[in-house]
Amino acid sequence: MRPEILHPLFAPLSAMPGVGPKTGRLFDRLLDRGGGARVLDMLFHLPQGTIDRRDRPKIRDAARDVMVTIEVTVVEHRRPSARYSSAPYKVLVEDETGDVQLFFFHNNHQWIEKLLPTGEKRWISGRLEFYNGFLQMKHPDVFDEAALKRLPPVEPVYGLTEGLYLRNVQKAAEAALARVPEMPEWHDLQALQLRNLPAFADALNALHHPATPQAVDPGSNARARLALDELLASQLALIMMRARFREQKGRASAAPGLLAQKIEDALPFALTGSQRQALAEIRADIGSDKRMLRLLQGDVGSGKTLVALLSMADAVEAGRQAAIMAPTEILARQHFDRMAPLCAAAGIRLALVTGRDTAAQRRKTVAALAAGEIDILTGTHAAFQEEIVFRDLAYAVVDEQHRFGVHQRLALGEKGAAVDVLVMTATPIPRTLVLTYFGDMDVSTLREKPAGRHPIDTRAMPLERLGEVVSGLARAVAKGAQVYWVCPLVSENEEIDAAAARDRHENLKMFFGDRAGLVHGKMKGRDKDAAMEAFSSGATAVLVATTVIEVGVDVPNATIMVIEHAERFGLAQLHQLRGRVGRGAGKSTCLLLYKEPLGGVAGSRLAVMRETEDGFRIAEEDLKLRGEGEIMGTRQSGAPGFRLADLAVHAALLPIAREAAVNALRDNPGLEGPRGEALRMLLYLFEREEAVRLLRAG
Ligand code: ADP
Ligand code: MG
Repeated sequence: MRPEILHPLFAPLSAMPGVGPKTGRLFDRLLDRGGGARVLDMLFHLPQGTIDRRDRPKIRDAARDVMVTIEVTVVEHRRPSARYSSAPYKVLVEDETGDVQLFFFHNNHQWIEKLLPTGEKRWISGRLEFYNGFLQMKHPDVFDEAALKRLPPVEPVYGLTEGLYLRNVQKAAEAALARVPEMPEWHDLQALQLRNLPAFADALNALHHPATPQAVDPGSNARARLALDELLASQLALIMMRARFREQKGRASAAPGLLAQKIEDALPFALTGSQRQALAEIRADIGSDKRMLRLLQGDVGSGKTLVALLSMADAVEAGRQAAIMAPTEILARQHFDRMAPLCAAAGIRLALVTGRDTAAQRRKTVAALAAGEIDILTGTHAAFQEEIVFRDLAYAVVDEQHRFGVHQRLALGEKGAAVDVLVMTATPIPRTLVLTYFGDMDVSTLREKPAGRHPIDTRAMPLERLGEVVSGLARAVAKGAQVYWVCPLVSENEEIDAAAARDRHENLKMFFGDRAGLVHGKMKGRDKDAAMEAFSSGATAVLVATTVIEVGVDVPNATIMVIEHAERFGLAQLHQLRGRVGRGAGKSTCLLLYKEPLGGVAGSRLAVMRETEDGFRIAEEDLKLRGEGEIMGTRQSGAPGFRLADLAVHAALLPIAREAAVNALRDNPGLEGPRGEALRMLLYLFEREEAVRLLRAG
């Protein structure tokens, strides 16, 4: 049971003063809590930056792409015509040095009119962006003189979502801070003093009430403290789970490999040496009564899924069941589509279950699974909810693990007796970090690429040459090429990102007409599928996408990848995206369009991309570059599910957390006494309570 003093932190955020049910739902979305955002989620939603109101520039002098506060006069309101209801509401404002268009992506026109009366002076806060020759600011905060005076000189800035304003979040943070209980210290005091780290509550306070802009830097002591907390919790949980895993004897699912052979015979190619090696390692585990917990690491397109399928065939041949879990619907469907013909060749019964199945479909699948009429189940995590019961699950494969939490992995393992678990990741992880990402697992690595892959011609180009790029694409498309066009995530606001992708799509439609498709995160599932389907069937030639295509999507005919604002992406992400092309027989190209001037770290990232395609090398370089400073707002894919720790900045804390966890559990394996209590509290706080449950079970 969760300790009582933590209850206030797990209370719904919507119950807080000043939040309420309607804003509450926006917070659910912002904090990505389908089940309802809690006080804790708000506390861990740390400021991304600050607004420093000590400086009040003119429009002409204000820095671009960072938060600024400017005094302006409202010139005019530009309502969208009713015909295009998704178009933004714009307001033109000016000072004596220039003008700015304000964008609002919602339809409460009266509210905007009241907020910004024409002819009056107001203070606006937001990011100034330069776009198509105009300065613009999306969803500014607006104050009159009196309101501005009441604000603190340094104000925390938070990631937002559509409809939610900075002040809503600040208020919620305020209310959440007031609820932080007094908790015992779970770290060794000396270790904290040595590194000058504050207490947990003080760290939260320092971040949500920044005294200076530097206070919220990822490298600040307050951030380091929270990162260390999270890493310690994760290390404790990993070690405890691994110990538990070891205790449980496995069941051998030995098979001669006849089904796997049938699949292999149906393949138009031979396995790579790496694939054979990995398969042999996995088979040895499955065939022995040792319980497998193995990581299959390999670059995008290195053929992991096939290795998984061949090994699942063994479990099926042994008369048992297997499951493969993907992080997204698109991927689950793709797994299914690609495995289906191979399974058919071997007489293996394959089924797909996703969150979008109808109740009737689902009932059917559930019944067939329990009756043992399905051999391999593929699906998203929705597939593995409680009502799903296998007749005899032997083996579970988890694809793209970093998207899942430890508890999901555990939940899967509990679906059968002594289930063997294979975790697949396409994010190459430097050897030094495997242990800390995944705990103490066995590792198989696919380093070799399947034969016949051509190197990808990677080029970096300034965005100014967009026109040239588009005409080049038009020529390639006329010859039958297919193109991914990736738009960056620019803000925490999905709606704004989707709008950018829609704009680009509109623009490319002028050149490609109906052959330009669009897929982004705000689309309905079915529309997304339809867009992907149109691209994979060749009906569309150019697919404009936000990073939803990032993981695993396979369209072998696509040979050109355009990444807009490549400077905003992390290396790992660029590498993942580039891996979408170069999969078929044709020569592939990757165009990295960047905005000038290209900064130091961003420049180095693009240089690394041009130099190598080796994911492991890129991962090592990434680690080095990220250590040298990270650009704010750049999202890194491959973050292993940490909320507060960012390995780019906090990697040095990993071994410290690891050692502390090892020591704590060695001295006190039952987590008893006051120190044990404190550590349990930490596990609850970071929702690693499955580990605490293991203590009780054991
Ligand atoms: P991953 O899961 O590692 O991204 P996949 O298993 O999806 O890689 O394989 C990517 C593509 O390469 C698929 O189209 C697959 O059929 C193909 N492929 C897999 N192994 C080989 C191989 N040994 N030779 C040629 N093509 C292969
Ligand atoms: Mg894959």
